[in-house]
Amino acid sequence: MARAMNSSLSKHAVDFINDEHLSSVLKCASPDPPRVREVIAKSLAKEPLQVEETATLLAADDPDLVEEIFEAARDLKKRVYGNRIVLFAPLYIGNECINDCRYCAFRRSNTGVVRRTLRTQELEDQLRALENKGHKRLILVFGEHPKYDADFMADCVRTTYRFKVGHGEIRRVNINAAPLDHEGYRKLKAAGIGTYQIFQETYHHETYAQMHPKGTRKSDYLWRLDGLSRAFEAGCDDVGLGALFGLYDWKFEVLGLVSHALHLQRTYGVGCHTISFPRLRPAHGVDTEWPYLVSDRDFKRLVAILRLSVPYTGMILTAREKPELRREVMAFGVSQIDAGSRVELGGYTEVGDAQIMEREQFLLGDIRSLDEVMRELLQDGYLPSFCTACYRLGRTGKHFMEFAIPGFIQNFCTPNAITTLTEYLVDYATPATREAGERAITREIRKLAETPQKAELLRRLRCIAETDQRDLYF
Ligand code: SAM
Ligand code: SF4
Repeated sequence: MARAMNSSLSKHAVDFINDEHLSSVLKCASPDPPRVREVIAKSLAKEPLQVEETATLLAADDPDLVEEIFEAARDLKKRVYGNRIVLFAPLYIGNECINDCRYCAFRRSNTGVVRRTLRTQELEDQLRALENKGHKRLILVFGEHPKYDADFMADCVRTTYRFKVGHGEIRRVNINAAPLDHEGYRKLKAAGIGTYQIFQETYHHETYAQMHPKGTRKSDYLWRLDGLSRAFEAGCDDVGLGALFGLYDWKFEVLGLVSHALHLQRTYGVGCHTISFPRLRPAHGVDTEWPYLVSDRDFKRLVAILRLSVPYTGMILTAREKPELRREVMAFGVSQIDAGSRVELGGYTEVGDAQIMEREQFLLGDIRSLDEVMRELLQDGYLPSFCTACYRLGRTGKHFMEFAIPGFIQNFCTPNAITTLTEYLVDYATPATREAGERAITREIRKLAETPQKAELLRRLRCIAETDQRDLYF
């Protein structure tokens, strides 16, 4: 299928992924320990790494060096993001799809999957369930289909912002969908979206062609690679990259992600807002052998190395992973996780705790409730946050980079995490989670210097506990 009529690439569109170059960099990188330490030191100084430097970390597989990389990633995460973890949930709107991606249950040749697009009423039912659990941030997920054009997506975004139950409201709507043209992104920007996510799936051209059969819209590698550049040009400066790990050599994909982030930084003066690193999961009707599946050990390495390569980029760990591994990897630099997630259409009201393969995109590894995940995070010393202040105050893209410096976190992120956590504890938490949360809040408040802002924060916390006032952010 050709590119849609009138659709044009971005102004500086170029296929900046040179497979041969990336493969040769991977072969050449020297795992010599002093060089590895030099690269780690650059990253700890919060400087983004170049492709060759990332390759040096990827080449280091001596257990002691790997441990040094893990330790550096933990350290950097603490220094850039503190102990906050932002929570969100995915909401699948429609799984009709004109593509035929080999790895996905929603591909068009899979006749065994139940096809469905939520009607407005059904969308509202899902929103009610999500808001009643305490969610404030969602990512809406769509297959690629003419039905799901920018107007349709923008309508879903507006419905989501409009729908409120009690103290429940969604304050940030992100999207994961097919790449759009400039006009499409402008429509979504006007509807108030947060991040637009597009995963390249694999940066390796030959594998990309095998996974996305010729003649399908997704087979156009450059249209997809250029998708977030068009988003930037249309004013969506908050974009998310990702690769589906398990399709090709994980080290190559890490270099692909880093190349992509550097390209955006060079071309638009801003890097990406987030990077996602989903691992391939079992899915209905997908029974292929996958020679490149990533082991848990390598998965930890890739998360730590990404953390070090893009110090100021948010990193998203999804519920595809099992609870134990999520817990471990979180310390390496993850800043956002989903919780209480369902990936079936209608999954938040219709399927209970079961996972029904014919209705979902892939099998999840962590189906615990939001409350359970919150409790574990609190008990592990994290500060769970539902903060949405930055994009609502225009602190996005370039502006965000200006703010994403030490001090900003202390002045804005931590107080906003504390107020949004307090809202959660007052409005939605079970008694055990509330108790763990109150202990965490006391601990966090003690760490804050005695400033007028702290006094204001304490006033706001009382306000939330004693009145109906909500959504108070710095
Ligand atoms: N349809 C849009 C697209 O392909 O860009 C966006 C939504 S798609 C439903 C979201 C992402 O799920 C895909 O980009 C892919 O990385 C991931 N995915 C697909 N099949 C998967 C599987 N079997 N295991 C894990 N993740 C999968
Ligand atoms: Fe469709 Fe996206 Fe699944 Fe590909 S990954 S089949 S585009 S829903």
